[in-house]
Amino acid sequence: MSYFLTEEQQAIRDVARRFTQAEVRPRVMELYGPGSHRFILDMGRRMAELGFLRLPIPEFAGGLQAPRTTLLIVYEELSKECPALALHLMLNGVLPAILLGMPAAKDKWFEKVLAGEATMTGAATDPRGVANFSEWSELAVLDGDNFVLNGTRNYCTGAPYADLIIVFGLYQGTTWAFPLETGTPGFVVREDPKMGLGTTFGAMTLTDVRIARDRCMEMPGWVKDKQMVQANGLSVINTLDISSMALGLAEGVFEKAFDYARERTNAGQPVLSLGAIQAKFAQMKAQIETTRCLLFSIARLLEEGRQDKMLEHIIKPVATEMAVDVARQCMQTFGGAGYCTETGIERYLRDAMGLTIGECTSDMHWSSVASLMGMPGARLGSF
Ligand SMILES: Cc1cc2nc3c(=O)[nH]c(=O)nc-3n(C[C@H](O)[C@H](O)[C@H](O)COP(=O)(O)OP(=O)(O)OC[C@H]3O[C@@H](n4cnc5c(N)ncnc54)[C@H](O)[C@@H]3O)c2cc1C
Repeated sequence: MSYFLTEEQQAIRDVARRFTQAEVRPRVMELYGPGSHRFILDMGRRMAELGFLRLPIPEFAGGLQAPRTTLLIVYEELSKECPALALHLMLNGVLPAILLGMPAAKDKWFEKVLAGEATMTGAATDPRGVANFSEWSELAVLDGDNFVLNGTRNYCTGAPYADLIIVFGLYQGTTWAFPLETGTPGFVVREDPKMGLGTTFGAMTLTDVRIARDRCMEMPGWVKDKQMVQANGLSVINTLDISSMALGLAEGVFEKAFDYARERTNAGQPVLSLGAIQAKFAQMKAQIETTRCLLFSIARLLEEGRQDKMLEHIIKPVATEMAVDVARQCMQTFGGAGYCTETGIERYLRDAMGLTIGECTSDMHWSSVASLMGMPGARLGSF
């Protein structure tokens, strides 16, 4: 689909497509083996060289200030082979914008991250639940000019190899962002293996970690008095991003299964000539294209200043559950070969499952939709 894209967006999409096919595809299975960190870091540097990390950064800070759609189509292309790289891009292209509100941390890290010389990530998941703010305990206390952090953060993408982690936590009931350099005394990270999307999670423990107060940033627009104060506070960043990864993932596995079904024969005919298989591909095509229409319409509304918060909550479960359905159907198209890890097909299903959970689960987004629809007793379940 290119009918909504400008010439510039089509050109960027083509760069992302060539990179994915020529450089990511030949090495992607490294992500699922012992060299996974090295693969992510190598590719992260290449994405920096290609300028992808600067796409969401404002022009005044040396970025390209690309429209939302541009970033989404890059995520989409990368995710046809490797959604984990799109996640890396999200963390290292979007999170640096937070550094713009933290001058001391910005001076040290901003350019390094955008050049691919350092990596960063964000840690928000409290063991009591990522959005269960009313049950969170305080992460920080103030001691003179320093915050002192004590607590844990789970399931953090990239934490085992990151140089800088923006830790989100409560101070006096309000969210703050704390820029934590991973060499800081009191910080320990354990690797937690996970089923897809590449490298291990980081499970982080913070024990009397000290960070200068003037390096940190208050974020009262997210949580105040231990309650989410703004529907969809952060989803401007993340529901569309994850949804475009789900779209790309579905397209990537679809293309592979379609080619396979055309070449694989049964009773002398391509498997693709079987009615049951044709119906399956026609339905998957419909799922992919309806998701694309919704996703890019929401992005366009956002770019035109007509943000629709409810649609932003709707697209995340719609797109990611669609990706699970498509990945499962495509895996079955490959028969036994689809179940073998070495063919690189079953990984799409494992990756898709992760997308339904990261950045708040489908259930949590449906709770938010119910709340925005004014259903009795409903409350925001996701940010
Ligand atoms: C691939 C991946 C990458 C991730 N990367 C990061 C990262 O980089 N940094 C980070 O901080 N975290 C990360 N996470 C963690 C992720 O954001 C959380 O796991 C996810 O948002 C769900 O939160 P939880 O695990 O606390 O679930 P819980 O809050 O413990 O939820 C438990 C169950 O209750 C349901 N539930 C909870 N609240 C509601 C509600 N209000 N309405 C309806 N149902 C509800 C959930 O659907 C779930 O079934 C990642 C997770 C994955 C899978």
